[in-house]
Amino acid sequence: MQTIRGRLAVGYAVALGATIFIFAAIIYYVQGSQAFAELDIRVRVESELIAAILIESYRARDTVVVRDPQTGGLVLTPDVASLLEGVPGYVLIVGQRRTLIHLSADARALPFGSAQALIDVAESPDTTGRFGLVNLAAPVGPVRYYVRPITDAGTQVTAVVSGTPTSGFVVSPPRLLTAMLWTAPFVIAASIFIGYLLVGRTLRPVNQIVDEVEAITDGRSLHRRLAEPDTQDELGRLSGTLNAMLARLERSFATLRRFTADASHELKTPLTVLRSGIERSITHPETPNDVMAMLEETLFEVNRMAELVDSLLTLARADEGRAPLHLDEVDLREILSEVAETASILGEQAGVDVEVDVPRDPVHMRVDRSRVRQLLMNLLTNAIKYTAAGGNVWINSTFEDGRVVLTVRDAGIGIAPGDLANIFDRFWRADPARSRTGARPGAGLGLAISKWIAEAHGGSIEVQSRPGRGTTFTVTLPVGRDQEPT
Ligand code: ADP
Repeated sequence: MQTIRGRLAVGYAVALGATIFIFAAIIYYVQGSQAFAELDIRVRVESELIAAILIESYRARDTVVVRDPQTGGLVLTPDVASLLEGVPGYVLIVGQRRTLIHLSADARALPFGSAQALIDVAESPDTTGRFGLVNLAAPVGPVRYYVRPITDAGTQVTAVVSGTPTSGFVVSPPRLLTAMLWTAPFVIAASIFIGYLLVGRTLRPVNQIVDEVEAITDGRSLHRRLAEPDTQDELGRLSGTLNAMLARLERSFATLRRFTADASHELKTPLTVLRSGIERSITHPETPNDVMAMLEETLFEVNRMAELVDSLLTLARADEGRAPLHLDEVDLREILSEVAETASILGEQAGVDVEVDVPRDPVHMRVDRSRVRQLLMNLLTNAIKYTAAGGNVWINSTFEDGRVVLTVRDAGIGIAPGDLANIFDRFWRADPARSRTGARPGAGLGLAISKWIAEAHGGSIEVQSRPGRGTTFTVTLPVGRDQEPT
């Protein structure tokens, strides 16, 4: 169960199922004990009635039993027997030495085994008045009985047993279970459905909050706030707390950005001074050779630092929204020609063959010329940097659906699939060990800046790569306004 909604709906259903079960068990218990109490009264009253008939008959006639001419055993006199025929249920009259002298019509109609079970009750040596339960074969089932001792109807009659099946009074566990099994699925399905709807309604504001927070925390909307409901319930407090947190986050981000921008800005001037000083010393005719070599190394590092400070300043200003684009009507061919020029120099140095495909017809776009050039140069220097000598790099442009698609493709070392998701992150490098020196120096900011430039123009940048086979960066830029390339 992935959602709270699903879990709560199932929780409701389980709770309802357990409630139904406990409720049914209590009903069964209460109904059963009440039914048994009624049954006890009934069998007792019946046995008292029979005892009264026998006692009265004995008083009137001096005897209630006669010897059966056929079997030779004792039986009730015909008039008493006919009086008792009217009494419903199982009636057994016991004589001396626990012998049976009368069986009611219902008892006689029982199958042999069941009749015998009743007779065993009647012939039991326990002659005290008592209730009991005897199990007869189906369809009769359990029978509640009462044994009433008789002392005033002559010595030949000792007790009467009166019994009634419980089936008409008590709901049996199987019947209750069947009823539950039939009704429970409907009740539980209804509860899941209603629970699901109710929880959905209850959680709707939570989902709203999640959506809003998602939209806000995309990094650029920290100034936005959640709508706070009027109620001061848990969700109202949650929105309030999240808003306070967003305000704190916004303040810290702003401080951080300001600090980076200020620090980068402050570093720019001393770096420029340092650079021009070193350059002057290098060109001085009296500088000894070993000092010259050291100064060249220092100049290389100072240049790298200046580039890094520049990149940091660009990103910090972009984050602050203080890096406006200087949009101009530009022919893409001009930018591509400039890039091609630098590319041929860089390619030559690295032994990489760079092919820049400059379109024959003009492609008019409304873009920030220097930023787009910076974007292409970032991709191009990377392509050359990560391609071994003797390899190739291609730059192409096509026009699709009002957008210009620029591709920078190389047949270099490629990027591992697991790294693709990170390459646009700031300061991320696949091989951080070689970031400072070595064949591929860099700080890991180039692609972050390229992504910002593409997105600031309303475009996008994507990468496809196969390790050992090469990498392709695809930049899509809108032409700007309603223009079509001519
Ligand atoms: P860097 O200054 O390190 O080149 P980038 O942001 O330009 O910084 O690139 C980040 C990382 O992405 C690089 O360190 C490199 O691992 C990987 N990368 C970028 N372009 C390519 C490419 N064309 N081929 C292989 N790896 C690349």
